[in-house]
Amino acid sequence: MTNVMHMSRMYAPTLKEDPADAEIASHRLLMRAGMIRKTASGVYAFLPLGQKVLAKVEQIVREEMDATGAQEMLMPALQPGELWRESGRWDDYGPELMRLTDRHDHEICLGPTHEELVTALVRNELRSYKELPLALYQIQTKFRDEIRPRFGLLRGREFIMKDAYSFHANQESLQKTYDDMSAAYGRICERLGLDYRPVEADSGQIGGSVTCEFMALAEAGEAELVHCTCGYAANTEAGDCLARPTEHAVPEMQKIATPGVHTIAELAAFLDIPESSTVKALAGKSDAGELVVLFIPGDHELNELKADRAVGGFTLLADEEMEAYGLPKGSMGPVGLPKEARVVAARSLQAVQKWVVGANEDGFHYVGAGLGRDFEVDEWADLCIVQPGDSCPECGLPLSGARGIEVSQVFQLGDKYSRAMDATFADEDGTETPFLMGCYGVGITRSLAAIVEQHNDEYGIIWPFSVAPAHVCVIPLTVGDEEVQPAAEKLAADIARLGLEVVIDDRSERAGVKFADADLIGWPLQIVVGKRGLAEGKVEVKLRRTGEKKDIAFSTITELLAFAKRSGGITKSGTGYFDGLFER
Ligand code: ATP
Ligand code: MG
Repeated sequence: MTNVMHMSRMYAPTLKEDPADAEIASHRLLMRAGMIRKTASGVYAFLPLGQKVLAKVEQIVREEMDATGAQEMLMPALQPGELWRESGRWDDYGPELMRLTDRHDHEICLGPTHEELVTALVRNELRSYKELPLALYQIQTKFRDEIRPRFGLLRGREFIMKDAYSFHANQESLQKTYDDMSAAYGRICERLGLDYRPVEADSGQIGGSVTCEFMALAEAGEAELVHCTCGYAANTEAGDCLARPTEHAVPEMQKIATPGVHTIAELAAFLDIPESSTVKALAGKSDAGELVVLFIPGDHELNELKADRAVGGFTLLADEEMEAYGLPKGSMGPVGLPKEARVVAARSLQAVQKWVVGANEDGFHYVGAGLGRDFEVDEWADLCIVQPGDSCPECGLPLSGARGIEVSQVFQLGDKYSRAMDATFADEDGTETPFLMGCYGVGITRSLAAIVEQHNDEYGIIWPFSVAPAHVCVIPLTVGDEEVQPAAEKLAADIARLGLEVVIDDRSERAGVKFADADLIGWPLQIVVGKRGLAEGKVEVKLRRTGEKKDIAFSTITELLAFAKRSGGITKSGTGYFDGLFER
């Protein structure tokens, strides 16, 4: 059975105008193409065309998950609050967790993620090391009461995620599944046609666990990244920055009067040097109550998470505390600090022999303060938010900056949940041991939006072949014409018989309206059937991505498409756009 979709019967209400609240391309175009509609803040319905794309994205993810050996299941969105109390996240998760109370006064939440539920599911029935490893996944609706739902599908309050969870007897096994999942995530991005980077991420927890985020490069992305030609990429929150040599070197340490200078910007302007040649000091306290003074390059910002980790909790000193230690705000430095001060400096300063830094005296700075000569550093640590231009920690070349959309993340959880929730298995000597776990999430709806962010132009969406709502749109110019209409129908049916998905725009609209809608919706290939062409036995074929058009003999078009389908070259890695169709 071949099936041709008819636009005249399809519920695909396109919009001529951009919706007022749509700030980015994917939101704007998915709305205008009649694929999604907003029903509440951060909540969207998928109309038939949107649903077709969604199903394709899901199917690609499903195939890649199945290939790793993970098994599909479906967990409920409604989760008992008591499980979240067991893990401690009822209190930790915060207002993002959508909570409700049932008629019996039981606490319930709408799942933002499923670690608790899946752990509870297996804890009494996955009993022996012999049954491990095990990986389960689902494609399911998640709820998060995001503080700022925005950018359409990119940050919703209700969205679809593929979430997988794995259970292991040992770290080696966890690492293997983590690597397999990471490889599958790369393939998913490729099949979705996404230009992406796997990036080093921060797990957000002290101690830090192993995690990697897959970022679709896009200006609309909320994440800031650095990346290098050598393949290294990191979220700026997580990345390391290596030494950058200073241009400013002075033989002897000199004390310079810097009246009124309190900030790095003022210091750099006063000395007429770049901010990168100065060193910034931050005084604080560790959780253990020690005085800690941190030093970082003047043009960098402190990464608080990293500082916390390096020092064992780091809180900046209040003004009164600074005074009590005799530390002058705005001109602190490493020379002449109180004896008890623990001096921790950014590793990127290790190669800077002479520092331009405060003199611990209001209104004075040092230039040429010699590391190891005029002062000592107790510890070196990774403390800064990495910036474009910093040296790549892998190869030393300067890093480039980019913005990205986090489409997926892989995570080694260790025994965090299994320990808290008492989920154990019997190991080889019969000892009850908590599982090691991994979790792996793909934002299905967010990925769909990311595809549109990367594949659009002024006329609309340009779907990669792999996720297009249909591959070919046949456009009869004059509907009802006794030659054109049947010819278009026959052509559509012939193409469908080749195994391609075909839609026919049989609406009695003006040609201009149909062309505009075809480009807006983004069918990869459009075939226009008109009276004049037919008289010459020709139809006009247009490639959406390049806009190229060519008249092709009506009799050879199906042959041509069969060729296009067969030859892998035309659909590069399944995500092509019929590129090369005309080059035969
Ligand atoms: P973010 O940092 O963007 O809030 P997250 O790191 O909290 O996301 P995860 O818990 O890692 O998200 O969820 C797995 C995946 O689910 C994410 O990589 C993302 O693709 C998707 N996702 C998360 N939150 C949302 C949301 N509010 N709307 C749409 N997709 C989301
Ligand atoms: Mg994440």
